[in-house]
Amino acid sequence: MPVRNTIHIGDATLTLVEELVMPTSARWMLPDHPEPFAVLEHARPWLEPHMLNERGHILQSIHSWLIEVDGMRIVVDTGIGNDKDRASGGFEGWHMRNGPYLDDLTAAGMPADSVDVVLNTHMHGDHAGWNTRWVDGAWVPTFAKARYQLVEPEWRYWSGQTDPVPDIIEDSVRPVVEAGVVDLVAADHRVGDSVWLEPSHGHTPGHVCVHISSAGRDAVIIGDVMHSPIQCAAPEQRPPLDRFVEEARAARIALLERYADTSVVVLGTHFHTPATGYFRREGSAYRYDVFEGDPPGP
Ligand SMILES: [Zn+2]
Repeated sequence: MPVRNTIHIGDATLTLVEELVMPTSARWMLPDHPEPFAVLEHARPWLEPHMLNERGHILQSIHSWLIEVDGMRIVVDTGIGNDKDRASGGFEGWHMRNGPYLDDLTAAGMPADSVDVVLNTHMHGDHAGWNTRWVDGAWVPTFAKARYQLVEPEWRYWSGQTDPVPDIIEDSVRPVVEAGVVDLVAADHRVGDSVWLEPSHGHTPGHVCVHISSAGRDAVIIGDVMHSPIQCAAPEQRPPLDRFVEEARAARIALLERYADTSVVVLGTHFHTPATGYFRREGSAYRYDVFEGDPPGP
């Protein structure tokens, strides 16, 4: 059974479609912290049961968020992809995948060829992979009728790398640029009346969050500003994969300050399903209050 989760934000329907779950440890997530397992124990009440398994592993998910609003179909982040050579630099389960992601999109009611807009919060191998698929010896756009609205500074940075250009750029981003289906947009781009980008660079130079606002309800898809809700308990601590550590730290703390104790639903991009909750202040740090189904409260 494909794992997914559907919620409503005003008149918008949002569906998480899972591609892969990766168990990880508190020590991996908080590599500079002297006592990562003390943080884990502190956070255990709100990590369990969804984001912590019985072996004490933090569950991370790689998934897309599908948005349907204002007659528009949007995919936010496109996972790892099939047939991608990730022998170097990838993680377990990334190399030459043969997963059912496209069938899972269809089962979720949003077949790839019905998508209008593709967004990547950033251009890492677990966020842009399904931008393309391998057909007759070439990488072609997976979402055949969509415009790919990609953040210009992010593309400029990664396509300008010389040491060398990352695989994800060559097999999953450059082919859509060359196919003429990309609109390079600003980091505060407005996709439509109810959806816009929020700049949050640091993890990567053009990283964005995606804000959804409809009929008085709001949600934000946070990309890799945070990788796990355990980071709410230790927001100053760097995770392992931030490109620019200080800017990423500032972006993470700004996100928590902006949305804590508000009615804005926080949708995790690597939080394990349901990946829906609220940031709440707790002492000098924060916690993540998970809910299932549609958001409670006004
Ligand atoms: Zn990621």
